[in-house]
Amino acid sequence: MNTDICIIGAGPAGMAVAIAASAAGASVVAVDSNSAPGKKLLITGSGRCNVTHNCSVAEFLRACEPFDRFLRHCIYEFSPADLIALLVGLGVETKTEGSGLVFPVSDRASDINNSLFDNAKSLGAKFIFGSKIDSAKKTDSGFLIESGDKKIDCQSLIIATGGSSWPQTGSDGSGYRIAEAFDHKIISPTACLVRLMTVEKWPADIAGAAAANVRVSAKISGKKISSTGPMIFTHDGIGGPAVLDFSREILNSDQCFPLDITIDFQPNTNDNDFQRLILEAALRYPKKEVSFLLADMMPISLARKICQMAGCEKVVSSQLTKQLRKNLIENVRHLPLKIKSARPLSEATITRGGVDNAEINPLTMGSNLCQNLFFAGEIINADGPCGGYNLQFAFSSGTLAGKNAAKV
Ligand SMILES: Cc1cc2nc3c(=O)[nH]c(=O)nc-3n(C[C@H](O)[C@H](O)[C@H](O)COP(=O)(O)OP(=O)(O)OC[C@H]3O[C@@H](n4cnc5c(N)ncnc54)[C@H](O)[C@@H]3O)c2cc1C
Repeated sequence: MNTDICIIGAGPAGMAVAIAASAAGASVVAVDSNSAPGKKLLITGSGRCNVTHNCSVAEFLRACEPFDRFLRHCIYEFSPADLIALLVGLGVETKTEGSGLVFPVSDRASDINNSLFDNAKSLGAKFIFGSKIDSAKKTDSGFLIESGDKKIDCQSLIIATGGSSWPQTGSDGSGYRIAEAFDHKIISPTACLVRLMTVEKWPADIAGAAAANVRVSAKISGKKISSTGPMIFTHDGIGGPAVLDFSREILNSDQCFPLDITIDFQPNTNDNDFQRLILEAALRYPKKEVSFLLADMMPISLARKICQMAGCEKVVSSQLTKQLRKNLIENVRHLPLKIKSARPLSEATITRGGVDNAEINPLTMGSNLCQNLFFAGEIINADGPCGGYNLQFAFSSGTLAGKNAAKV
């Protein structure tokens, strides 16, 4: 089979390449080891797909530090506003939630996946499923890609095979071997945006208890690190967006574990205001247990656990002494936990590491080492926090790679 462009991987990045390159008039074949496109895309945002972040390009880039310089051109070329416009043009209306999280109005990731796949096919892109590519070779005219008895000759090759987290979705790290064969350096893949395990066992007692907005903080080598957002207690520690973002900040710090952290369940107030709030509530409900006073702020199981740690588990509000109040404030605003480690890479939302972005031209997504070879998406060592940044990067880098590969 002959084609202008061959894409390995039909996830969000691969589909974006297929759309951009086909729209530019190139013949495109995308190959994926799964039986259908976007297996990981379908599980994003718990099946709702937080497809991008509704913000300016400058804000987007700031959130993605330290990769902002590498991402700059591709995000300007295909911004969150461009992605939303593309989806709306394909019939997928979007909505913005919270701090800027964009979802399809239907809350169905499959609507995003189907619309992109249908768009790529309608532009003429061909897809081959159930075919895992193990290697690709440079030839005089371009590249030869082989899988079993299938051979594809192409002028340009795009590797969009994802990272190596959640390997059951197809992103098993095999793309790294293909890139290495073209002399690309692979920065050791590590877990990013990942749940953290605590030394303390008590989180298991309240597994599933979630708080809508917390601040997770720690000091590493004298530098204060913190993240805010929702969190959840798990059977062996903590998770949720605030924790995943926090993991992104700490995992590059050498020997960061064991790590002492604190959680503030009232990050938008200060100790004095919080104390006033508690005193007023105690006056209003003198006969209620202290945990009841926290019930507006957090799930009751968490409120009871905090009261237990503050020594006021069975205490009624009228008996809340100054010392107990102090303990309570301490535990609500500065709850201490010791992190022993992160969950493994296979469970991480994102892979940090992969193809060294220093060997990729950020203006084209083309390889600096091999002519007409391009990369797109999570295979590249570049990532952002929770909130739609990583899918946007997959779409932006895919669009840029597709446009430039079509020029070959
Ligand atoms: C549980 C979970 C939830 C997430 N939620 C969000 C979210 O809400 N918002 C967000 O922005 N990001 C989210 N992400 C991250 C997001 O899914 C990734 O950033 C995105 O999927 C990366 O796209 P990609 O196309 O680069 O890689 P992938 O989506 O991993 O696609 C790569 C494709 O390549 C194929 N492939 C791999 N190797 C080969 C090979 N050798 N031969 C043939 N085919 C191959 C795979 O089968 C796969 O289909 C989430 C991730 C996870 C795990």
